[in-house]
Amino acid sequence: MTARIIDGKAIAAEFRQEQAIRVARLRDAGIVPGLDVVIVGDNAASRVYVRNKALASEAIGIRSRIHELPESTTQAQLIAAVNRLNIDPSVHGILVQLPLPGHLDSHDVILAIAPEKDVDGFHHDNIGALVVGDPAFYPCTPWGVMKLLEHEDVPVEGRHAVVVGRSNIVGKPMALLLIRAGATVTVCHSKTTDLGAMTRQADILVAAAGRAKLIRGDMVKPGATVIDVGVNRLPDGKLVGDVDFESVSQVAARITPVPGGVGPMTIAMLLANTVHSAERAAGLGSRAETRIA
Ligand code: NDP
Repeated sequence: MTARIIDGKAIAAEFRQEQAIRVARLRDAGIVPGLDVVIVGDNAASRVYVRNKALASEAIGIRSRIHELPESTTQAQLIAAVNRLNIDPSVHGILVQLPLPGHLDSHDVILAIAPEKDVDGFHHDNIGALVVGDPAFYPCTPWGVMKLLEHEDVPVEGRHAVVVGRSNIVGKPMALLLIRAGATVTVCHSKTTDLGAMTRQADILVAAAGRAKLIRGDMVKPGATVIDVGVNRLPDGKLVGDVDFESVSQVAARITPVPGGVGPMTIAMLLANTVHSAERAAGLGSRAETRIA
């Protein structure tokens, strides 16, 4: 079998178009959605991510501002910066780019973001809402994965999904969204004793471990849908996922590439959360987009 490649880039472009229409509607009503990104220090990769988010925002009419703070910024200064954005009515989405320099506590910084502007969906209020099924901002990467599955008509209800990784920003919310969609979910992590025995049971396999080529073809059930969240840079500079694309694409029915799979969807969902926040602040639109059944 040769897997069908899920074109995340094209699907994200379609999705961004839908957001552009919503932004135009807001602008017609005199509201300009605003996304403010705070970055501390000069991590080169973070700078590229932040720039890409800003460009994607502006391309669909979201006003975007990047707040660059020096490496020496203290916790109190960073929280003060977040607080200024919390009370600024022109700001609908606040994002603090992670990772932060070692002397800063990202946990407390995330909790300082007003939950109604937490477009990354990392605040406890949003994660808690996701757990109990209340309206929430979903974390962008797992939500993007759900949109990819939906777009590709991948059946989720009643299927066995295996998530490799249990981080707060990818693995855990991914499992919650899959449970909500009716899948039976297994979550694996570094202490899982026989990873292959677990992954071979998956109708839907989501790899989010941050380990290059961790998932090989012999670890995948024939006909499975394989979603590769991982982004790893090899010593030769090449970007690869957590999935060994060559061997897995011979076994799976569908597979996402890296790059060009989940990554573009993550940004598209950030835009969607920002637009939703602006609609909600203006009393426009419905909450249905983020309502959990
Ligand atoms: P973390 O490092 O926070 O979490 C990795 C998880 O994988 C942990 O739960 C860890 O287990 C588990 N893990 C590590 N090694 C193994 C192993 N050998 N077998 C099984 N499980 C393992 O990473 P993130 O969740 O933040 O990100 C995961 C990957 O996704 C990274 O490559 C990251 O770059 C990428 N990413 C991509 C995005 C995109 O838009 N495409 C967005 C966000 C992340 P344990 O908990 O036991 O340590």
